[in-house]
Amino acid sequence: MREMFTQGAYLAASVTFILGLRGLSSPATARRGMFFAEVGMLLAVVGTLIQHEIVRYEWIAIGMVIGSIIGALMAILMPMTAVPQRTAISHMFGALAATLVGVSEFYRHGNGAEIPHVQMAALGFEVMFGSLTITGSFMAFGKLQGFIRSAPMTYRFQNQSNITLFFVTLGLFAFLIFQPASPAVFYAMTALGLVIGVLIVMPIGGADMPVVMSLLNSYAGLAASATGFVIGNNVLIIAGALDGASGFLLSILMSRAMNRSFTNVLFGAFGSAPQAELALKAATDKAVRSISGEDAAIQLGYARSVVVIPGYGMAVAQAQHQVRELADEIEKRGGEVKFAVHPVAGRMPGHMNVLLAEANVPYDKLKDMEEINGEFERTDVALVIGANDVVNPAARHDRSSPIYGMPILNADQAKSVIVLKRSMNPGFAGIENELFYSPKTFMLFGDAKKSLSALINEVRQLE
Ligand code: NDP
Repeated sequence: MREMFTQGAYLAASVTFILGLRGLSSPATARRGMFFAEVGMLLAVVGTLIQHEIVRYEWIAIGMVIGSIIGALMAILMPMTAVPQRTAISHMFGALAATLVGVSEFYRHGNGAEIPHVQMAALGFEVMFGSLTITGSFMAFGKLQGFIRSAPMTYRFQNQSNITLFFVTLGLFAFLIFQPASPAVFYAMTALGLVIGVLIVMPIGGADMPVVMSLLNSYAGLAASATGFVIGNNVLIIAGALDGASGFLLSILMSRAMNRSFTNVLFGAFGSAPQAELALKAATDKAVRSISGEDAAIQLGYARSVVVIPGYGMAVAQAQHQVRELADEIEKRGGEVKFAVHPVAGRMPGHMNVLLAEANVPYDKLKDMEEINGEFERTDVALVIGANDVVNPAARHDRSSPIYGMPILNADQAKSVIVLKRSMNPGFAGIENELFYSPKTFMLFGDAKKSLSALINEVRQLE
């Protein structure tokens, strides 16, 4: 009876997970999708807790209380801008759980001696991918949080040594399938997995981080799915596979959005750091034109068409509500306002969509890059709000740039460009932006929220 209930709950959970993923495919249904996923997770937890193999609940209760407190504190205290780091650290914890289950199963079954070959394949896969995801996600977390340098860290023969190490680890994994009772090999493989996680994320910098994040997401899912095979848990197999597949697809879509191949992202950082630094130095002696709030308001107030380009800085300043207010003011005066959303703007997929939806910007005003790029030539003002890398024309022509090849929003083709940011500091990729030195660009320095509030007032006062 209990078993039937558990399997029923697992089946219902799997269906809700799929509905959840489906909901997440559009901003309009994303909230509903999240709700489905939450219900699915609740069903999976309840289904697991009533299993008859569980003889004592004390440790489970303690774990749940600690986990819930940490989860609630993270949700309440972490700002929206830290969500990407939070996602990276969540992948790390997911992978840590999968790896620990794998290690304990190995240990519990006579250090591998009682594990059949097929099960060892799943267990080895789980621990290998789990361990490299732990450290890989931690590195991604560090780079996004800023305590590890986000620029690519490279050295000679880096790709060659990483690939060699990966094949050595794969060799140990293959050996374990045939000789499961080899604890030394098992722990060496786990340790090498941890080292590889650090080494593969080290050379990946700035602009390529979104692809790495979704790839690590995929690895964590695959490790969880393998855990499901090891402990015979169907919902874990299905949820892990969904996570693995969707993460993998997202990585491919993100690579495409940046016009990069997977291999180029994973191995392309070779030597790009010094070139980026050179570019930064070369540009420092050029002059920029700053503009007052009053003059910027005149341009915006009398413009017939304005394209707003939000970026990470809008998220930092939490300026999405002011952005919408300013758009409303411009529209009241007869101008048309559209929002251009770059697929990697911000620090996580869909970052800008989430913020603009929160500020009730209508969905039909949000335009994808392909949709809007042809319109910039006819646009009076491109209003860049805390965006930098996603409007950097170097991506089109500067082969030495780490973002070379990434499609950008063609803000530079608008008749006039107004950029809201605090300083001349570079964006995530750590490189200079030639758009800021263009004769038609005006810089409005200051925190985006403050600048926008001032702009709203100025526009309201125009005749
Ligand atoms: P960028 O990181 O290129 O630039 C953000 C700009 O915002 C900075 O130049 C900064 O300049 C400015 N800024 C910061 N705080 C404020 C503030 N309070 N007010 C006004 N401006 C502010 O952002 P983009 O969105 O253009 O590009 C995203 C980058 O992040 C890409 O390189 C992308 O690859 C990467 N990335 C994207 C992920 C994703 O999934 N979307 C994940 C990880 C990385 P200043 O300090 O002078 O104010």
